[in-house]
Amino acid sequence: QQPFLSVKDLKVHFSTEDGIVKAVDGLSFDLARGKTLGIVGESGSGKSVTNLTILGLHNPDSTEVEGSITLDGQELNGASESTLEKLRGNKMAMIFQDALASLSPYHTIGRQIGETYRKHTGASKQEARVRAIEMLRRVGIPQPDRRVDDYPHQFSGGMRQRAMIAMALVCDPELLIADEPTTALDVTVQAQIMDLLKDLQQEFGTSIIFITHDLGVIADIADDVLVMYGGRCVERGPKEEVLRTPQHPYTWGLLGSMPTLDGPVDVPLTPIPGSPPSLLNPPSGCRFHPRCAFANKVDGNRCATESPVLEIVDGRGNACHLTDEQRREFLADLAASK
Ligand code: SF4
Ligand code: MG
Repeated sequence: QQPFLSVKDLKVHFSTEDGIVKAVDGLSFDLARGKTLGIVGESGSGKSVTNLTILGLHNPDSTEVEGSITLDGQELNGASESTLEKLRGNKMAMIFQDALASLSPYHTIGRQIGETYRKHTGASKQEARVRAIEMLRRVGIPQPDRRVDDYPHQFSGGMRQRAMIAMALVCDPELLIADEPTTALDVTVQAQIMDLLKDLQQEFGTSIIFITHDLGVIADIADDVLVMYGGRCVERGPKEEVLRTPQHPYTWGLLGSMPTLDGPVDVPLTPIPGSPPSLLNPPSGCRFHPRCAFANKVDGNRCATESPVLEIVDGRGNACHLTDEQRREFLADLAASK
């Protein structure tokens, strides 16, 4: 049986004045109905680009997209703009980090939610208003029948984020892409928004792609985790496994600064030195090698010369030259140092 969303060997390359930027370079993953995939990585790792490409929101003039993206059996790579336009909002929707930038300051919250609904359903203005109030209620806005006539600036940051979620879900999309939706919010509101997303997923059966730079944020919500680095997947697996027994040195670095699944522990911050690679001239071999503390543990100069292959068995795997035995040893050291 075909997975609900299937991305196969996706490559997204941009032409720039300086050359070709390989923002995504051979990415594959599946997402089942009603499940959540967390995509984790630093900014510039390709996670946002991947998802804008799924939605067809990339610039077709400067972007070359290779590979396959199928949603419910329908190929999206190469689909016409009108096809994608119909799918966006209706079958797939997105929420962004910045609700203020996504909402128009000139129209009421109710009108903006209602317009999305009308566009895809042909509902009347009155029906759309009723639907908007209903959605605001579902996302936990108090007194929705009054707040529906407010403008975005009259909402708090957390309420605007809820309103954006209401707008994204107004047509019952089957796929929701959330790109760092809670990053700008304080921790309490962040937790409320995550709970809301989980509740709505239960209610609507939505599949979710949750993009974040913070593994801790998805510890709660994701079923599977995909770690991206330099436009590629470096590790993938069920959330519990990735968080409890991470395999890739980059994931170890990400985990060094987060509370674990078992609750917040006193972990000394072990930030990864250096910065993400240029995707104009990516490093040779393993793209992580200039920053990897373990590159010298691998025989020869393989990390700098040979690109590790991502091998996924039963949904679990990593792209690194370390052997399982070396990995166990280093992880034990890492745990002992905490
Ligand atoms: Fe580090 Fe080498 Fe593994 Fe890359 S392949 S993550 S450089 S040990
Ligand atoms: Mg981003």
